[in-house]
Order: sequence, then C-alpha cells, then structure tokens
Amino acid sequence: MARTTAPATGTPDGQLGLDLLDPGFGATALHRVTPARLDTWDACPRRYRMLHVDRPAPPRGGGFAHTTIGAVVHLALRSLAALPAERRTPEQAASLVDRHWTGEGFADDAQAARYRERARDWLAAAVDGPAGRDEPLAVERWVRAPAGPLLVEGRVDRIDARDGEAVVVDFKTGRRVPTAADAADSRQLALYAVATAAVFRRPCRTVELHHVPTGTVAAHTHDQASLDRHVAAAAESADAAAGATTALADGGDAAALFPARTGAHCGTCAVRRNCAPGRAAVPEPRPWDLLAP
Ligand code: SF4
Repeated sequence: MARTTAPATGTPDGQLGLDLLDPGFGATALHRVTPARLDTWDACPRRYRMLHVDRPAPPRGGGFAHTTIGAVVHLALRSLAALPAERRTPEQAASLVDRHWTGEGFADDAQAARYRERARDWLAAAVDGPAGRDEPLAVERWVRAPAGPLLVEGRVDRIDARDGEAVVVDFKTGRRVPTAADAADSRQLALYAVATAAVFRRPCRTVELHHVPTGTVAAHTHDQASLDRHVAAAAESADAAAGATTALADGGDAAALFPARTGAHCGTCAVRRNCAPGRAAVPEPRPWDLLAP
C-alpha cells in the first residue's frame, strides 16, 4: 500500500447524544460522547437536534449508493479479518462483497452490478495490504474510556498492534483520497486513540485512514499535546451541545439554540426533508450522484 505520513502535531447507547453521567456529581461528571455525534453538532446544530434530541425523531431520507458501498465494504473487510490467514485469498475476499451486497440507492441493476464489481476488485487487492496480511487486535470494536472531562465511546473499524503499540485504523471508500493532514485533523480518530489506549492498556498514538479503492494509507502519529488539543475541542463541543439540550428542555427556543448551518452537507443530510433552510440551500442529489465516476 502507498503510505503518506505527517509529523506529529498536535451506540448502542442512550437516547441523547450527550448524556451527563451522574449529574449528582456536579462538576466532576463526565459527558458521554461519541465522536460522530460531536461532529454532527459542529456541522449543524439543527441536524444534531433532529437526530439526537427530538423524540420521536423525524423520519429520515433514503439511502445513497455511495454509502451503500461503504457499508458493504466495511462488512466485507470485517469478514475478511475473521478468516484464517490461509483463506484470505483474492477470490475469497471478492466473494465477501457478494455476501454482503445490497443494491440500495443505485439507479438500476446495471449500475449496481458495475459498482459491485469494482468493490470486489478493491477487496481482492486488499488481501495484499494490512487488512489481509496483519492480524488485528480487534475489528469493529466498541471502545469506551474517559478522556479528560469526557467519556468517549464509539466503534473503531480496526485496531492493529505494531511495535507494542495499538494503531487505530479507519476505512474510507469515498472519492477523495485522504491525506496525512486528514488523519492528523480527525477528532474522531484522536478520541478513539485515547480510548483505545485505555481499553487495551498500551500506548496508542498512531491513527490511519485506509482508502480501500486506492490502497492508500494516510497516517499520523500524535503526541500528548495534539491528543490533548483534540480532547479539549471535543469537550467544548460537548459542553455547547449539552447546554443547548438542557436549555431546550427548560423551554428555550429550538431555532435559536440549534441553528441551521447550511452548506454542501445539506444535500445528503438525513433530515433535510424536515428542514426548509437546508432544502433551499442545496438541491437534493439523486441517490447515486455521489458515486465515484
Ligand atoms: S439540511 Fe442542512 S441545515 Fe438542515 S438540518 Fe440538515 S445539515 Fe442542517
């Protein structure tokens, strides 16, 4: 696999995105967070409210073909890791795509078949990379551990063991090839590294983005200062989201507390059908429009 690096810088859960554990603890209580939900808050507070605060939750839009491929590839990679090493052949890997395939979001059977073949090729090639070659510490592992004022939890795609350390791996299948800067800037990966170190009781500072279509690995090795910065930023978002949620429960104005933040992301937003500003900002793509050409 090609590899890029940069120098070091820097649920299955409850009903709300951020639960304050044991409020009786006051200032010492921990915000229970998933990085994905914090990212949702930062991207658009209104989306956060509709997905994680409003109950009953509003109906969501249908699936997109590019996310279907991502889900299928993740499942196939999980199945690949579960095979004994001698059975991780290109043919076997490709067949795992067939096992998990679904045609949701594609224009028609012909288009689905084309992309299915493409995903089979990716899996066949992956057997020569870390996903086929190395024995992971864990695959799709739910981790949960304190990180500063947070209790971080989430599912890590893969955790590898290298030189006595744990390495957090996230698989990507999108059009854009991630860079080392993406790995460094990913709050999700940094929080997972902190939680993984605690769960596996070994150092975990390296995070990697594996782009399955190209076999590229974008890696970054954090130092304590960069991990602390990510935790501090996450705590800030968690405080803001929890504060807005509490204020809403106390009768606050939903539109003011959870403002709509429109942008390109409104096109694929799961709750755009319930959001007039988002629908006005960006035309709705067809379910297959974000497939790589
Ligand atoms: S459509 Fe856009 S503005 Fe509306 S909730 Fe979704 S991301 Fe926010």
